[in-house]
Amino acid sequence: MGVDLPASTSLSPGIQAMIPFLYAAWSDRHLSVPEVESLRQQAGALPFLTEEDKPVLREWSDPARPPSRERYQQWLSSGRLAAEALPEDRTASLAELGVWLGLAAEEDPDARRDFWAAQLPALQELEANLGGVQEDTYRSLFPLYDQRQKLAEAITESRIDPNDLQRILEGERAGIIARTKKILLRPSFDRPTLRIKEDYREQVLRWCRELAQEGIGALSYPPEYGGEDSMSEYAGAFEAIAYHDLSLVIKFGVQFGLWGGAVYNLGSKRHHDRWLRETGTLELPGCFAMTETGHGSNVRGLETTAVYDHEHRELIVHSPSIAAGKEYIGNAIHARLAAVFCQLIVDGESHGVHAVVVPIRDAEGHVLPGIRVADNGYKMGLNGVDNGRIWFDQVRVPVDNLLDKYGGITEDGSYHSPIRSPGKRFFTMLGTLVGGRVFVPRAGLSAAKSALAIAVRYGLRRRQFPSESMRSETIILDYPNQQRRLLPLVAKAYALQFGLDHLLDRFVARTPDDMREIEAMAAGLKSYATWFTTAAIQECREATGGKGYLAENRITDLKADTDIFTTFEGDNTVLMQLLAKSLLTEFKKSFQEDGNIAVLKFIGRRVTTMVTEQNPYVVRQTDREHLESPGFYQTAFHFRARRLVTTLAQRLRAYIKEGKSAYEAGLLCQTHMIAAAEAYVEQLVVDAALDRLEGLETSDVSETSDVSSLLKKTIQLYAVHTIEGHAAWYLESGYISGQKSKAIRKLVDKLCAELRPEAGVLVDGFGIPDKLLGAPIAVV
Ligand SMILES: Cc1cc2nc3c(=O)[nH]c(=O)nc-3n(C[C@H](O)[C@H](O)[C@H](O)COP(=O)(O)OP(=O)(O)OC[C@H]3O[C@@H](n4cnc5c(N)ncnc54)[C@H](O)[C@@H]3O)c2cc1C
Repeated sequence: MGVDLPASTSLSPGIQAMIPFLYAAWSDRHLSVPEVESLRQQAGALPFLTEEDKPVLREWSDPARPPSRERYQQWLSSGRLAAEALPEDRTASLAELGVWLGLAAEEDPDARRDFWAAQLPALQELEANLGGVQEDTYRSLFPLYDQRQKLAEAITESRIDPNDLQRILEGERAGIIARTKKILLRPSFDRPTLRIKEDYREQVLRWCRELAQEGIGALSYPPEYGGEDSMSEYAGAFEAIAYHDLSLVIKFGVQFGLWGGAVYNLGSKRHHDRWLRETGTLELPGCFAMTETGHGSNVRGLETTAVYDHEHRELIVHSPSIAAGKEYIGNAIHARLAAVFCQLIVDGESHGVHAVVVPIRDAEGHVLPGIRVADNGYKMGLNGVDNGRIWFDQVRVPVDNLLDKYGGITEDGSYHSPIRSPGKRFFTMLGTLVGGRVFVPRAGLSAAKSALAIAVRYGLRRRQFPSESMRSETIILDYPNQQRRLLPLVAKAYALQFGLDHLLDRFVARTPDDMREIEAMAAGLKSYATWFTTAAIQECREATGGKGYLAENRITDLKADTDIFTTFEGDNTVLMQLLAKSLLTEFKKSFQEDGNIAVLKFIGRRVTTMVTEQNPYVVRQTDREHLESPGFYQTAFHFRARRLVTTLAQRLRAYIKEGKSAYEAGLLCQTHMIAAAEAYVEQLVVDAALDRLEGLETSDVSETSDVSSLLKKTIQLYAVHTIEGHAAWYLESGYISGQKSKAIRKLVDKLCAELRPEAGVLVDGFGIPDKLLGAPIAVV
């Protein structure tokens, strides 16, 4: 035992040793008779108390004379100082502290070491007889008690095993998630802090190679190209990688999903044979060059051209202006090939956007003639991804490099396509690339889960402000406001997992007939989920105070790296409008297909809604049974989705009748469109979550009953919190009364309080290994 405590004071070693006991005895502000008895009687027999010490002890344990606030604070400070210096293998006990303090106050500690070690049993007995020291006392004295023991207890106290939650969240992807995490936990994946972009990019490239060597990159490719033909497995790996490093997951996505996906989805078999296997092993790094400086969201407006030269059977790829240069292209600095999206011109006629594979570097990594590449430099985040700009100056490639699944050039030099309408062809081509919108929100959700796990774990151990003077300070997650900030986000993360799983299942089982609906769904869910990620991480940063701002606690990187998720793979605002347009088309189609019958059905449905959901009794119904029933929130979500799309259609029709163009009418209803799209997504998420719960309830696994009631409450919180967020709209629509709106608000508070004891287990259910979570404030 080395004693390097600043020996505090003029107090004798004996009194110093008693300080933790005095602090504990007075921690509830009054001394009970047994406490006084125990302190005085047993203390009298303690050999280290001198005759001068005993009257001091008597005075300080006099029930009629509580210590001043300053003295009490002094006791706490001395106790804490000792607790911080106490070796890690010592238990959190008053006796250990007493020995430590007594020894520290000796003039010659080395000479008294054995003496004080021998006092431990007597002090332990005193501690045991003190009448049950409050756990809070230990927690306020021992910072390590807070950091280690309390959290472990909070988790083990719950009846729920987080592994059960994890199993439900990961579903059939549990195997691949575990396989990927195992790789990520290798020492080669340790996360050094790399703030120089070139170093960081090299590290990310090495990680990506290691994943590729393990077959993770090629998971979605057919077996003949080294893959397992499984989009679902690829999705599982993708979300797991996002627990580790977001630059890595984006680089991974660019190489195997975007570049590999363009070759696979837009190319023919000869293209697959030529490039896919080496893409999956990362021997052939490639990039996906769609966006231009001048055109991002508006892909149809791209300026790069590919002009066909029949004489040489070549395509001439060219950037006609600086703004036509490709911009933000991931892998631009490492790639050897680029899938370049450009206007295909054959015999002077433009056939719209197509993808052409253009070599940009040789095998040694030198940029090829006619190609200019510029680094995009430092970004707000994702600095491990090499984004760059690329220009083409009359670069000639064989016509064979045209990815020609949806449009090619025949031997005689004419253009042909299985899809005659250029508009339909364009959307079909882009539709095949929808995978990115299925996977990106899953990575975003992983990042949000990491931030939530960090913030909730911190919230369980951090204390601020005592409830009364001389009481230990309050755990911050016990503040209703902290619960309000974090628990609805945790609930939304669960609900979104089920929503995104539904999208993935539909995507995996897709048929050409489903594609339109899946694209719309992906556009909406990508936007809703990535907006959630941004909002959740910001809230977690604030909820962790100054600690959350420190880079070591990872929220800063999570925030900076995911910020762009709302923009790439399609800007969210633009995507939500795509979804709204698709909803309107469906709406119009159902009217056209069924003619007058549909109108009657629709009117009938509205009348039914008014009778069943908008009758004055239901509008005012506030009993908990009603508010918590899935029937209530499901009908509320469906009502909002249906109402917003019908009123949108009515408004558009009215503007067009007034003589406005469809474009002008669209602009006038733009915010309405986005609200309708959001309502559709929320309805989809709540339906998917309820379906998943129903599956659990009807399954015969009895031990899941506690888990399923916890999940039920969690989804309820998502639902009522979402309704609360739209309270103004529901009130305006006459769907709920003011009283009901108030009852919903109270229910949100109540559900937050009820879920508070399960907060630790809910975030542990995300299944993020401590090493990947990485934040010292969150790691047990
Ligand atoms: C880090 C990073 C990596 C990327 N990687 C790649 C890559 O590998 N390959 C690639 O091809 N591209 C990549 N991109 C480009 C990305 O896909 C584009 O940034 C994205 O498509 C948006 O385009 P933009 O930046 O031009 O924004 P814009 O389309 O100009 O949008 C700017 C703003 O205008 C708003 N807006 C635009 N149109 C409308 C409208 N009709 N109605 C209402 N509001 C509107 C948007 O909501 C947005 O707020 C990447 C971008 C970044 C930043």
